[in-house]
This record gives sequence, C-alpha cells and structure tokens, in this order.
Amino acid sequence: MPRRDELRPKRFEATNRLKSLMTEYYQELARAAKNKNEKVAWCTSVGPAELLLAFGFKVHYPENHGALLGTTRTANNYIPRAHAIGYSPDICSYLTSDIGAFLKNETPLSKAYGIESVPKPDVLVYNTNQCRDVQEWFSYYARKLGVPVLGINSPHGLDEVGASHIKDVAEQLQSMKDSLEEISESQFEMKRLQHTINLSLEGTKFWKTVLATATNIPSPLTFFDGCIQMAAAVCFRGEQRAVDYYKVLLTELNERIAKGIAAVDGERFRLYWEGMPIWGKLRQLATLLMELRTCLVASTYCNSWIFEALDPSKPFESMAKAYSEIFINRSEAQKEKYIVDHVKRYKIDGVIFHDSKTCPSNSNARYGMPRRLQEDYQIPTLVLDGDLNDLSFYSEEQATTNIEAFIEQLEGA
Ligand code: SF4
Repeated sequence: MPRRDELRPKRFEATNRLKSLMTEYYQELARAAKNKNEKVAWCTSVGPAELLLAFGFKVHYPENHGALLGTTRTANNYIPRAHAIGYSPDICSYLTSDIGAFLKNETPLSKAYGIESVPKPDVLVYNTNQCRDVQEWFSYYARKLGVPVLGINSPHGLDEVGASHIKDVAEQLQSMKDSLEEISESQFEMKRLQHTINLSLEGTKFWKTVLATATNIPSPLTFFDGCIQMAAAVCFRGEQRAVDYYKVLLTELNERIAKGIAAVDGERFRLYWEGMPIWGKLRQLATLLMELRTCLVASTYCNSWIFEALDPSKPFESMAKAYSEIFINRSEAQKEKYIVDHVKRYKIDGVIFHDSKTCPSNSNARYGMPRRLQEDYQIPTLVLDGDLNDLSFYSEEQATTNIEAFIEQLEGA
C-alpha cells in the first residue's frame, strides 16, 4: 500500500472537458460584462436560474466563486477584510471570503480561467430557501455596485411542501418576472422559459444518474469526485452543456463499473457525508480515506442540485416546488428520513456529519440527529468540526484522529 502522501484520487478523463467548458463559461460571462451586449445576473445556488436564462441573462453563481476561494485555499487571505468592515466571523464564510476578495480586488478566476475580475452584474437575484446570509451577501453588492437586488423569501423548515407554499413562491416568481422584463429590456416568452426548464430537468436527471452510479459496489466515484463534477450542474443548469457533459461522464462511469474499477481500491467501508464540503481540505480527506480503504459514496450536498419537480407544463408552480423542497429547506424530521433512505439505498456503513461553523443552515448535527441515527437506526455516526471555507475552524490533526478512530470502530463492529 503506498503512503498517504503518495496516494492520488483517480481522475476522470471527462474532467478535461469540464475544465474547458468552465473556461468557456467564465469567458462568456466576462465578455458580456465588458462589452455590455448581454446582461449579467448573479444568482444564488437555488435561485430562479431558469427564469433568468429565459430572459437571456448570463448567470454567475457567487457560491461557485466562494467554493473556488475555498479550494484554492485563498479564502483565509480575504475573510479578515470582511470582518474589518463589520461582518461577523460567525456568518457564512462564502460571504466573508467573497466580499473580502472583492475589497482586495482579487479573484482566483484570473488564474483558473484567464478573466480579469468577477463579471459585474446588472441584477442580483437570491432565494432565502437556503439561508438568510444570501440576502445580506447580495444586498452588500447592491449597495456597493448600485444594481437592483431581487429576492424570493421562501417559507422555511417545511415538513411537507403544500399548495400554499407553492402558491406563495410562484406568485413571488411571477412578480420577479415583471421586474426582470424591465432590467433585461426584453419581453417575457413562456416558450423560452419552458425550454429552459426542460433542459434543466434533463440535466438534473443525468446528474442524479451520475450520483446513483455510487450505489454500485465498489463505487466508481466518491463524494470528492462529486464536488468537482457538480460544477456542470451548478453553472450550466438549464443549458444543453450540462446534459452533454453528464452523458460523457456517465459513459466513463459505466466503463469503470463494467471493468470493476473502484474509486477507492479495496473499498471496505462506504460512508455518507452530511453537510458542506471542507473545500480547502478535499485532497487531504480524500487521501486519508483512500488509505483507510473507505469511500464516501453519497452526500446531501451533491444531491442538492437535483430538481426533479421541474415541469415545463407548469413553469412557475414547478419552479416554486423544486426550489422549496430542497433538503436544506426542510424540517428536521424530513431531513432525518432523507438521510436514512440514502443510507439504505447506498448500503452505507456510517455517516460523517460536518459541523460547519459558519453555516448553521447546512449543519445538521446540532439538534440530536447523529444520536438519533445511532439509537433508532443503529447507524454509526461521527461529527467533524470544521468549516466550508474558514480553515481556522479546522484542525487537520484532530479530524484525522477522529476519522481513524471512527474507522476502527467500524472494523470492530
Ligand atoms: S447555505 Fe451556508 S454556505 Fe450556503 S450561502 Fe448560506 S450560510 Fe453560506
């Protein structure tokens, strides 16, 4: 067995294609912002991207920029700048690192995709279905850049997504449509929206199939692969590019399955990752788990870009339903049910909860869930302290010790 520092996660050939698609995407955005021939919208991860695309906006997702600040381990250079202007160390570290980078006029997009700066928006559009921080994040830029900010205020913590919730959000989307007509200086066309929703739905189905290949034993992909491959689901939502890319990736995954190629050689244990990724430590955690011959086969996070409720025949209602029924927006009971279902479906041996210090909305270890999974369903659990971007909340030594002890516990079970 090679030493941990010699281990390398297995790459997918398709990733080269993804890298060129991402370069193309960011250069299109940069051209639109520079030449002002197309409008640019910034949108939260489960904001109404389909509606924006139907108006012809080029869509930038600041959370993707936040994740890039995390993976490049530059976030901690910027976070103190946001603290210095009054943003608390306890709030979302995507927000603080993104605003800090803006204040320093720097971005990892330059090195990664050859563009000068984050493309300037004509409109900022958020949905509070994930958290309140996105509203504050976008409102900061609205004040700074003098551009309009539009928001969907979603009903939160839902047990069931009922007719009244759908009606509420659908009406907000309808009224947002009127504002977007003005900002985009173009007329709304239902056919265009239906086309976008159709593509979004198709992309979502392929992404779901990609993730479901991990039900295979051994799994052909890991959560860490998913964190890379999901870039297409995030950035090309509602576009043909996502559909085409996932077809290519799926062929490669099916080849791995046919040849019995495991993402983690000698897979012994299969785990579930609950919560945000620790972006700056993906490689460290991936190689640690490879050494322990353990595969993270599923996660709530990668599944969060599956929007099966989309339906081109009911555009506004189905967008409202799809955006409202996401995991992060659900009650504790629904979240628990969701995780237990996935544990069974993916034949999982244990769950790692990442308690991400600056993202309470997507940290589910705080109200007794790990204990309930152990006691009520005999599912072993581990809670890992850390953060999505702020590495001052993460101790590599402690995380390694805790994970190794957890695997020992599984070995003895
Ligand atoms: S869900 Fe968490 S990581 Fe995402 S924007 Fe909100 S606070 Fe930040």
